[in-house]
Amino acid sequence: MRNFLIVGGGVAGASAGYFLAESGTVTLLEMERVPGYHATGRSAALFSEYFGNPAVRALTTASRPFLTTPPPGFADGPLLTPRGVLTLCPVGAAEQFAEMLADGLAAPTPVREIGHDEVHRLCPIVRSGWYSRAMLKPAAMDIDVDALHQGFLRGIRARGGQVITSARVRSLSRRGGLWRAATDAGEFAAPIVVNAAGAWADEVAALAGVPPIGLRPLRRTAFLVDLPEDIGLPENTELPENTDLPQGVGAARWPMVTDVADTFYFKPESGRLLVSPADATPMPPGDVRPDDLDVAIGVERLQRATTLEIRSVRHAWAGLRSAVADDTPVIGEAQDAPGFVWLAALSGYGVQTAPAVGRIAAAAATRTPLDVAYDHLSPERNHLERHGTPMSRAAFLTERWK
Ligand SMILES: Cc1cc2nc3c(=O)[nH]c(=O)nc-3n(C[C@H](O)[C@H](O)[C@H](O)COP(=O)(O)OP(=O)(O)OC[C@H]3O[C@@H](n4cnc5c(N)ncnc54)[C@H](O)[C@@H]3O)c2cc1C
Repeated sequence: MRNFLIVGGGVAGASAGYFLAESGTVTLLEMERVPGYHATGRSAALFSEYFGNPAVRALTTASRPFLTTPPPGFADGPLLTPRGVLTLCPVGAAEQFAEMLADGLAAPTPVREIGHDEVHRLCPIVRSGWYSRAMLKPAAMDIDVDALHQGFLRGIRARGGQVITSARVRSLSRRGGLWRAATDAGEFAAPIVVNAAGAWADEVAALAGVPPIGLRPLRRTAFLVDLPEDIGLPENTELPENTDLPQGVGAARWPMVTDVADTFYFKPESGRLLVSPADATPMPPGDVRPDDLDVAIGVERLQRATTLEIRSVRHAWAGLRSAVADDTPVIGEAQDAPGFVWLAALSGYGVQTAPAVGRIAAAAATRTPLDVAYDHLSPERNHLERHGTPMSRAAFLTERWK
């Protein structure tokens, strides 16, 4: 049996561990007391095949079968439930809207343009006059993030692996063909280590002497607001013919609403509205907190696009979406560090792509061919563009490996 170490117990590390546990013994090391404390536990929980660049969309689509039909016993209920996304075109953004519409027509379930009446039926608080056109992305879904994450972690344990919390990896070195991790919870060793440390992935690489990928953690804010009690759809409102849209009553079945320039979004969440100003502020890795100004910007954008008047914000939080320059995940073995496998830079897509990225990371770790090519995700792609000249990379390696 082979052994694998995984650094990071967010949804990415948990997914990689789940698939790796099919071929060996997994030890997942998480620095917090609770896995999912960082990005994974702070997301907006949306699955959208209309979102991200083509590489991201392919990973999202590849994740759909697992999410719609997980293995028996993986979760108690469905992992995906219908939501839909309504994208509005504010005055002046016509060109961007036309591009997004054309692009969305090629999605597995195509987008469709809808008129003002239908917008009003789907989400009666949208302010008429604020937007000129609208499109519906009908197949976007809510993800039960906790159920997905816990399902992966349970699977690791069920296959004989361990999930060790309060185990921050403080040093990582390769000796005698093994990666040795010194953590707050003791020392662990295995020939393969998967770096799934989220915003800290470049820091973990530095511990191991592996060149960084140029990760940029970007803070995103979200908050909850109350809805007026009388708001919602009348009980017998006719819905458009689309079985993918939520079939409930009232605000709970509104789609997520956003604008074509991605300056805000809101969606129903446990009887309230989850709102985000879609900010992306560069930050060092850490336990980030929301900035009052970002919350105020979110409130202002929400009030501009809807008829709501917000008097108070219930609860605000922020998390880090960590990306590299091409906004494409980085998965694969580091060229100059045998057995060191990257699973990072999942940006705003790490939950919706988790099954596919975990499977790919497991294939990279076991050097098993997959039925899909994933060279374009390799940590070596564009390395020189991100980190300067060949000289600087060579100098870095010489410095690190001497
Ligand atoms: C506001 C917001 C909204 C989002 N909305 C969506 C969405 O709708 N859909 C979607 O798919 N994605 C969304 N995302 C993105 C998604 O949350 C991330 O892509 C995903 O959670 C990344 O998972 P991860 O496992 O890589 O990172 P994390 O969840 O951050 O996990 C990394 C883990 O590594 C641990 N770690 C770090 N260093 C060490 C160390 N030295 N030793 C041990 N452990 C360590 C950390 O404690 C952490 O638990 C959103 C993100 C935010 C912030």
